[in-house]
Amino acid sequence: MIGIIIAILFFVFVTGKYEKHEVANSSYALGTLINLRASGNKAQMAIDKATERLNEIDDRMSAFKESSDISKVNLSAGTMAEKVNSDTYFVVKKAIEYSEILEGTFDPTIRPLVTLWSIGTKEEKIPEKSQIEKTLKLVNYNDVIFDEENNSIMLKNNNQALDVGGIAKGFAADEVRDIFYQHNIKSALIDLGGNIFALGSKEDGSDWKVGIQSPFKSRGEYVGILSVKNKSIVTSGNYERYFMKDRKRFHHIIDPKTGYPSESKIISATIISDNSIDGDGLSTGVYIIGIDKAMKIIETIEGIDAIFITEDKKVYKTSGIDESIFTLTDSEFFEEL
Ligand code: ADP
Ligand code: MG
Repeated sequence: MIGIIIAILFFVFVTGKYEKHEVANSSYALGTLINLRASGNKAQMAIDKATERLNEIDDRMSAFKESSDISKVNLSAGTMAEKVNSDTYFVVKKAIEYSEILEGTFDPTIRPLVTLWSIGTKEEKIPEKSQIEKTLKLVNYNDVIFDEENNSIMLKNNNQALDVGGIAKGFAADEVRDIFYQHNIKSALIDLGGNIFALGSKEDGSDWKVGIQSPFKSRGEYVGILSVKNKSIVTSGNYERYFMKDRKRFHHIIDPKTGYPSESKIISATIISDNSIDGDGLSTGVYIIGIDKAMKIIETIEGIDAIFITEDKKVYKTSGIDESIFTLTDSEFFEEL
C-alpha cells in the first residue's frame, strides 16, 4: 500500500513538475511578432537563448539596420565585396538556390522594388510606371557574386540591393529549433509572425494543430487545420501586408518580372517541410509562379508538401497531404482532387 502511495506521489510530483515547465514568451524581432512556447526543465533558458539569437540574426540581416551585413553589401553595391557573417552567407546562398529552382520568381535582389512600393510603411503608393521599369532593371539574382573563401558577397551594379525578408524568418525558426533541441526540449511551438515550427508533439503526445488562415476572413479564422509533428509550416499570403487603391489589393510580394505585386491566382501558399528555411523561401516564390508550376515544382522536391488556395476558393494539395494531415474546415472552399 505504502509503495503504491509513494508511486502515485512520485508520478504526480514528476509529471506535475514537467507540466509546470511550459514557458511562453512574446517579443518583437525580424520585423514581426515572435511567440515561443516550450516545455521542459530548461524551457526558460532555451527561450532566453533563442530570443538572443533572434536579435543577433536581425542585427545581421535587417535591411533597415545600417550596420547589418545586408546593409554593408547594399552600400558597397557595384563597388566592392563585403565580408559577412556565415549566417548571412548561408541565407543569401540559399535564397539564390531558390531563385534558380523558382525560375527567378523568388529574387533576393528585390529590394529596390520593395523600397519603391514602400508597402507596409506610411509612404506606400502606386509608383509611376516609368519608375517601376527603371527599378526593375536592378533586380537580378545572377548579379549576386559569392566568394566562398572569404565569406564575402558583392552586388555587381550600383544601386542594386538585397532583401532577405522572404527567407530570413525561416532560417531563424530553424535556429530556434536547434537551440531548443540543445536544451532537451521535446515539445514546443515556434511562431515567428506566422512562420511556424511545431517541435515534437504536444505535451500529451498528440499532434500539433496549426490552422491555415482564411485569406478572406479575420485573423484566427481558418480554411483548414494541419495536424503535424516536428514540421515547419510557412504560409505566404496577400492578406497580411497590403494597401487598397481603387478596390484593388496591392500586397507585399512583388513579381520580379513585372515589378508589380504578384497577380497569380494563388492567394495563399503553405509549405510543410522539415526545415523552415525551405518553407519560407519556397512559399514566397511559388506564390508568384502560379498554381500549375507551383504544384509541379513542389511535387519534385522530396519531403516537402504544399497547400495552395486560389482566388476561386479552391484548395490544392500535393500528394503527401492526406486526411490525417489536413482537414478542410470552411465549407466555402473546395478541395481540388
Ligand atoms: P512574410 O514576410 O509576410 O511572412 P514572405 O516570406 O512571403 O512573407 O516574404 C515577403 C517579403 O519578402 C517581403 O516583405 C519582401 O521583403 C520580400 N519579397 C517580396 N517579393 C519578393 C520576391 N519576389 N522574392 C524575394 N523576396 C521578396
Ligand atoms: Mg517567405
